[in-house]
Amino acid sequence: MPEFDLLIRGGQVLDGSGKPAFRADVAIRQGRVVELGELGRSSAPAVLDAGGLTVAPGFIDSHGHSDFALAVNPPAESQLAQGFTTEVGGNCGVSPFPLFSDNRGVEFDPPGVPVTWTDIDGYGRTLREQGIGINFVPQVGHMTLRQHVLRGEDRPAGEDEIRRLENMVREAVAAGARGFSTGLDYAPTRESTTEEVVRLVRAAREAGGFYSTHIRGYGAGFPQALAEALTVGRKAGAKVIVSHIGAVGVSRGRGRWAVETMEEARERGLRVACDMMLYPTSGVWWGPRAVLPEWAYNWRCPWADEVRRLRSFLGDGILRARLRADVEERRARPKAGFDEESMVFSSWEDIWLEEVGPGSRYHRFVGLSLGEAARRLSSDPGSLYLSLIASEGEDLSTVHRSIAPADFDAFLADPWTMVGTDTVGTAIERSSEPFNVIQAHPRHYGTTARLLGLLVRDRGALSLAEAVRRLTSLPASFYGLEDRGLLLSGAWADVVVFDPSTVSEVGNYGRPRAYPRGFVHVLVNGVAAVKDGRPKGARAGQLLARSAV
Ligand SMILES: [Zn+2]
Repeated sequence: MPEFDLLIRGGQVLDGSGKPAFRADVAIRQGRVVELGELGRSSAPAVLDAGGLTVAPGFIDSHGHSDFALAVNPPAESQLAQGFTTEVGGNCGVSPFPLFSDNRGVEFDPPGVPVTWTDIDGYGRTLREQGIGINFVPQVGHMTLRQHVLRGEDRPAGEDEIRRLENMVREAVAAGARGFSTGLDYAPTRESTTEEVVRLVRAAREAGGFYSTHIRGYGAGFPQALAEALTVGRKAGAKVIVSHIGAVGVSRGRGRWAVETMEEARERGLRVACDMMLYPTSGVWWGPRAVLPEWAYNWRCPWADEVRRLRSFLGDGILRARLRADVEERRARPKAGFDEESMVFSSWEDIWLEEVGPGSRYHRFVGLSLGEAARRLSSDPGSLYLSLIASEGEDLSTVHRSIAPADFDAFLADPWTMVGTDTVGTAIERSSEPFNVIQAHPRHYGTTARLLGLLVRDRGALSLAEAVRRLTSLPASFYGLEDRGLLLSGAWADVVVFDPSTVSEVGNYGRPRAYPRGFVHVLVNGVAAVKDGRPKGARAGQLLARSAV
């Protein structure tokens, strides 16, 4: 009789601790890792050959939004295909519970989601009944609660309202939510006072929860917003996660300062970490959305369709002139709030040419900013941009770099920085589901491939062992996920087998929907969810509620 359910043979193990790789076989029984080492004489009905490959704990997405998406697309293939076996959800103040008739339909809850639950118990039951592909960490969101208690009004809450909010936070965390999240840059939470946030975070902490925050500003208000997050953590005695850290708009250049500020807070006893998106583009999808006015370009539609309409505008002298003037107005106007500051461009030096058509005369400008390309052509960048749309059409891909490279490097170098996709789990194969119709971003499919391929192997930004630690034991320990994040005997068998020499993104900004290359096998709780590079539709994940399972 075989001793084990499954054996992974001959791989180089990176156990998630940050230690260098060592050669070991990995044995799995009943969803857990039971032995690691030289297991040449052992047998199992299923054997995966990991010769020449790296074996690591399953990756943890520190910042996702699959809360509602899991009800529509339970397997979450786009997460599994890049090695994520666990996602921390409920971010930016938006959670899938408690739900009432008056707090539905917010961000990440588009029409078409069959909601049959109200509280976290009902949510958990739904996910358990249908099964989910990844492990999912629930949080309760400030915005979701305020939408109900203050009926969506963005104003400071009164004492009675704060008490109701406190009770709801306490209840949700006691029932299993691991954290409390805010999205203080968005209505209807923008007008909440720091005191309200402190009280709600304290309620969460007393029930056993952490605090994660999309802070009040990443642009003009970034220094005050980061300081507020640290103050809240200190006053409430809670662990703080600063979500998708970035420094945009007038705060470009404040990356080092932010890292040092968090380090000083740590030295004074606060437990604080952050996560980041691994793209220099912050939340923005890509160039056209940053540059073009809304009347000319709808980012929710495929670029190929939009380009046809744009070309017809460009053929009309009057419309072309109006478009040119509106692009310039958009660039020059003062920006306010996260969306504007990170998504609308302010300088042609931040719009980069990523791709042009085959044989294009603009090919030599790929990799340059439009500002630089225009200088070399003795042209002006606005006219150059419109000419590129006319000549390259569908093949044109431009990117808006809202994060300065030095800031990006400072955030990535910080050993407390985790990795977030800020995405919803979806599947390339099901293009009509409500979460798949919005324009995708390469990070939705390629975040970990970008880290392990481009940033680690090609640029040497981190060692492979350190990158794997950021994806595994760092988030597992920070979020308190028991028996995950380290590959050792007794841990849950969330495992990624990948090829560090080939791992790479396949999608790009123009064509983001592509699974990455190099992830060979992914196990979730001992079950093969990705085999030979393809998601299998398995539903072996668990809701990692605080007290459950
Ligand atoms: Zn956010």
